[in-house]
Amino acid sequence: MFFNGKVVWITGASSGIGESLVYAFARQGAKLVLSARRVEELQRVKATANLPDDDCLILPLDVSDTESVVTLSKQVYNRFGKIDILINNAGVSHWTKVKDLSLDVIHKIFNVNFFGGIALTKAVLPQMLENKSGHVVVISSVLGKMVVQKQAAYNASKHALQGFYDTLRLEVASDGVGVLLVCPGFVRTNVAKNSLNKDGVAINQDNDKIAKGLDPDDVAEKILKAIEKNKDEIIIAGRPEKSAIFLKRLAPSLFASMMRKRKLL
Ligand code: NDP
Repeated sequence: MFFNGKVVWITGASSGIGESLVYAFARQGAKLVLSARRVEELQRVKATANLPDDDCLILPLDVSDTESVVTLSKQVYNRFGKIDILINNAGVSHWTKVKDLSLDVIHKIFNVNFFGGIALTKAVLPQMLENKSGHVVVISSVLGKMVVQKQAAYNASKHALQGFYDTLRLEVASDGVGVLLVCPGFVRTNVAKNSLNKDGVAINQDNDKIAKGLDPDDVAEKILKAIEKNKDEIIIAGRPEKSAIFLKRLAPSLFASMMRKRKLL
């Protein structure tokens, strides 16, 4: 088993894609660091995964608190001596037109989706470079490659991830460190319910397309395979999202006119 004994740190491990990643890595005998804000949910995931105490560290964190994130990485080294794979998965969306979107909410989205993962990446990179081995995985989105209305800050944060990690990959290519960017389409998780409204509060409403989306366990398995194959990027999405990306790239004006009328997605 490729991941047996590897130390994997997953943010957003309390729910959705992150939770499914925990189960997938646990099945392969990895040692896991589970991070998110809700400790009781992390404990539930640890118990469901049947992870023994020796192989699991629950490390609650708010990724937007970038200073504590750096300090916390030291706890992982103290416990396991290394970090083989960092998965920057924690994320939050919003559901507001730009005219109603406060700067405060835009900052919140960027602090979680962009700066939190960047801080963690910078904290683990020196050791990975020194060991000439390691993997940084980033859960971006198909919305890092195209856009939909009412999600401007989310779209922008995911586009920013693409630019940052594509650059990092170039810089560490000859140092044994892999960088995988994952772009999921609709996946059946709580992401819609947890999306922020204009006041920065979770809307707590499901979205039909998310509810009918891909199974997060299948998404997790595909992510593990992509890490094993040392892929640079993987799009895990249904035909509509993949077609929209294709159209945006090949015929951006047509894409825009269809998205304006909401005839796509
Ligand atoms: P969920 O809402 O189910 O999970 C989000 C996770 O992020 C939770 O574990 C949550 O834990 C954690 N999180 C949120 N804010 C913070 C924070 N400030 N600090 C630490 N952890 C935080 O959604 P998904 O599983 O769908 O989302 C996972 C990733 O996948 C996100 O980056 C999302 O953008 C991306 N994605 C999802 C898609 C989908 O259709 N589901 C499509 C494309 C991308 P807690 O509340 O305990 O802190």
